[in-house]
Order: sequence, then C-alpha cells, then structure tokens
Amino acid sequence: MTSAGAPVYRVEIADLKAHLLRVHLTIPAPAAEQEGSLPVLIPGSYMVREFSGHLQKLQARQGRKRLQPEQLDKCSWRLPCRAGQALELSYEVYANDPSVRMAQLNHERCFFNATSVCLRVHGQDRAALILEVPPPAEHPRWTLATGLEPLKVDRRGFGRYRATDYDELADCPVCFGELWSGQFQAGGVMHRFVVTGAPPTFDGQRLLEDTRKICEAQIRFWHGKGKPPMTRYVFMLHAVSDGYGGLEHRNSTALICGRKDLPGTDASKVTEGYATLRGLISHEYFHTWNVKRLRPAAFARYDYTRENYTELLWFFEGFTSYYDDLMLRRCALLDNAGYLKLLGKTINQVLQTPGRQVQSVAQASFDAWVKYYRHNENTPNATVSYYSKGALVALCLDLTLRSMHPDLHLDRILRELWQRCRGGPMSQDDLLEQLQASSGRSFETDINHWVHSTEELPLEPLLRAHGVAVLKEPDQLAQRLGLRVEEGQGLKIKTVLHGGAAHAAGLSPGDEWLAVEQAGGPGWRLRRLDDLLLYAPATGKVQALVSRDEQLLRLPLKIPAPGHTWRLAVQEPSLLERWLAGTPS
Ligand SMILES: [Zn+2]
Repeated sequence: MTSAGAPVYRVEIADLKAHLLRVHLTIPAPAAEQEGSLPVLIPGSYMVREFSGHLQKLQARQGRKRLQPEQLDKCSWRLPCRAGQALELSYEVYANDPSVRMAQLNHERCFFNATSVCLRVHGQDRAALILEVPPPAEHPRWTLATGLEPLKVDRRGFGRYRATDYDELADCPVCFGELWSGQFQAGGVMHRFVVTGAPPTFDGQRLLEDTRKICEAQIRFWHGKGKPPMTRYVFMLHAVSDGYGGLEHRNSTALICGRKDLPGTDASKVTEGYATLRGLISHEYFHTWNVKRLRPAAFARYDYTRENYTELLWFFEGFTSYYDDLMLRRCALLDNAGYLKLLGKTINQVLQTPGRQVQSVAQASFDAWVKYYRHNENTPNATVSYYSKGALVALCLDLTLRSMHPDLHLDRILRELWQRCRGGPMSQDDLLEQLQASSGRSFETDINHWVHSTEELPLEPLLRAHGVAVLKEPDQLAQRLGLRVEEGQGLKIKTVLHGGAAHAAGLSPGDEWLAVEQAGGPGWRLRRLDDLLLYAPATGKVQALVSRDEQLLRLPLKIPAPGHTWRLAVQEPSLLERWLAGTPS
C-alpha cells in the first residue's frame, strides 16, 4: 500500500506551559464539503467521552483561501472546500490528562492517543495515514516511543510514522519526553519498555527481566516455539504519585502506576504494589491476543461515533483476567499459595456483589457503557464485574475440562479458537463449537447458566477436585453490615449493599455515621467503623445516629452474626500443580 496522497497529521508543542498541542492536518485529496470528527471513545475503554471538548481554534484553508468550518455536532465539522485540491487544517488540543485514555503535555512528557488529537477524515479513514512529530527544539534529551511503523525518523525517534488506517493510528499511542528506556527480545520480537516519572531508586533492569518472563510465557502459551503476531511491542509506563491503570493496544500498552509500586534498587522482596503492577503488565499483554486480535465481531471495525456493543466482555476481559495471574504463576513470579490468595480475592469480590443476582455477566458486558464504566454508589447493587465474574467463568470452564480428560483444558481451547478464527473476530458460537469439537460434548447449558443467568457458579466442588481447600472465615465488619465506607474526616457511607443489615436499617449513601447508642446506655461517637466493636455488642440491636443533608436521624440497626469470606489453601499439591503449571502448546 502506498502512502502518497495520504493525510498527514503533524503534532507539535504549541505551548507546553498551557498544555497545548498544535495539530496541522494536510489532506492532499479532500472530498467536496469534506467532513471530519474526533472519536467519542477510545477502543478498550467502554465509555462515551467528550475528547472534542479540548479542541480549539480550528482553522482551515485551501490554497490561499481561508475556509470557515461548520460545526455539525459536539465533535464533527464540515469544510466548505472543493474536491481534489489540498486542504490544510490546524487546531489546538488542550492536553493535561494523566490517564492512559487521553493526552498529556507537561514538563516531563507528552503522551497522546490519536483519538484525542487526530481528527478522523471521513471517507479516508480506511487508507494509509502519516503521523509526523517534529523534535521539540527546547528539549534535546527527549526521545519518542510508539508502536507505529517508522517511515523516516531520527535517532531519537522523531519524524514520520505510517499507519495503515485510522484504526491503527487510534491504536498506537505516542509518548515522548525524558524516557527511561530498556529493551529485550521475546519470541524473536523486540520489546521496548519506556518509563516516565520514575524516582531515582527505580530498578529498571528488574522490571525488564520480569516483563521478559511474562512475555515469553505468553508467547509460548499461544504459539509454542512459533512467532507472535506483532513485529514490535512497546510498554509505556507513566509513574505518578498515586494512580493505577492500563489500556491495551495491538502492539503496545499504556500503563500508569504509583511511583512506590515500581521495583526499587534497595528492595529485596516484592512489594504488594509491584506484584499488582506485574499483574497489570501480564493482563495488558495478554490482550495482544485476546481482544486486540481475537475480538468481538462488533469490534472488527470500530464505530467512533457511538457505543460499540458486545455481550462478550466476560470472555475478552474475564478470560484475560483469569490468565493474567495464571501467567505470573507459570513464569514463577507467583507461587501456588500466592496464586490462590489472588483467586480467593476475586471470588470474594464476586460473592460480595449483590448485583451478580441482578445482571448476568453477558448483560453486564453489554451495559458496560452505562453501568460498570459509569461507576457510582449503586454500581455493586446493579451489575457485576465482567472482569471478576468472567475470570471465574474461565476458571469453571478450565476445571470442568480438566475433570473430563488430562489433555483437555482451557489453554488448548484458546489456542484452537485462535486457529479456528485465524486470530480475528469471533462469536460465542465459535467458542461453543470449539468446546464441542475438542471435548465431544456440548457446553451450551453450562455457558447459559454461568454467563446468561444469575445462578451461582459451581466453584467449590471444582476447586476441591483440583487440590484446593476452600476455607470459610468470618467476614470483616463492613461486609457483615453490608456497607462500603470512607474513613478520614468522619465515617461516610459510600455504598449500602442490597439485602444487608445497613440496608434494613435504612442507611443511605452519603450519610455521615456520627454515633451509636444502645438502649439504656450512653451514646458513643464513631470516627472509624471498627470503633463500633468497642461500643456495641458483637451482635444485636443498636441505634445508629446519622447526619443526612444536615438532618439528624436515629436508625435501628441489627448487627448480624459474622458471615463468611473464602480463603483458598493448598490441599493436594500434585493435583494443584497439574492445573497451575500449565501445558506446553
Ligand atoms: Zn483488560
């Protein structure tokens, strides 16, 4: 494919102190009345957003003639131009968002997703595009990283890149700044890791070495000794005072973590924060196969103007969540006990979510745009996480297959599904057909129960059959009362879980829980939830004094006996090993 005649986006710093980028867009062969728009979503993040709110000073000219853009809606414009003569646009984008989803320009870095910065040229978004990033003169030490294919770049990575279409441009974020940069080979592919915001104690070699193990284990998982589907891969990690998240792309990922979560030169043991970061790296990398290539048919081509619906996030996010920790175990970054601890946490998360009895995980997937991604105080009552419950569906499927025959397991099904769908769009029917073909029996009833109903999953018998002891331990006070709280300046009610004691008492999100009284006894001020254990009987009736919109309310609360949370422990190591150690493809 040639890129002659392709639209060129030149993205440069307009005013670093004002966090402004300037974009010059040249369209060599526009249509008459050419239209363009900014997306309302970034693939992988299931929420409609208003990126165009940060676009300003849009100007256009054709030859010497200035054109007046006509705005059509919140994110689309029409240019009163003639066909065939080069059209030049320029505009500014305010870039001051530290997340992985938008764009940020400041003293230490520039990071952007094309969905925030590059207007989609209607009618030309399925052909090649050029992105040009000139070297910023005031920052001679800055270098650039992206998954895009370089066309003509300097030693520091500035210059011209090519995308085969707008989808690829949107899927290849760009990061430049004073980057910490390291690289390694895995599966014959060069992997680059760049970090911004790292403290001086950051141990980059350790991060590289651990990441290499994760990548090698996953490439082996999907392809054995074969080659992975990308020719280069870039990890872009931004370390901040407090933050966590990641977004997957076809040959890169953007990550954010707390500085204290990075491995340090003086630490001999793995902190919880660093263990979580390794899990995030494993998760986003697994998406290289599961969601970026194997993907819902609805995502074969994104519609950038509206929600893109799928019922399958339980598969793409859930199965990825199942394998992210399992992959850490398989490359020895977790031991069996560590793995079971994380799995137990996922199980408790689902069991403590009343919304699992309201929505199936397929409905939760479809509704992600208005429920899970639009998190509010009622989310745990209204829906279930397709990450956590989806991971448990994967667990049930894996352990059921393993119970049938030693050569049957989810690893094999995923590899066969990859072959069946040629690493491309897939449907639930593809999964069901593959399960039938590989195992000789239908899984339709199982998937209907686990995915399309709100019935409980058969976790306990499956875990026991694979060498895991399921222990039930008394739950924490907040869970016992059916509450999520915020402590600090007083005791604030964040969420009241349906069916719990707090719900029965009439506590409400936003209430400040001031004090507790017992019949005939004095009242006691509460500053933290656990203070309740000091001033009230372990079970029985009390009065909760709350402030709601400046009104004082006395609510009768019955403190129930403790319920249970799950703890998983190793019961039969040899059985467990057979499951967790994995199977070469
Ligand atoms: Zn994910």
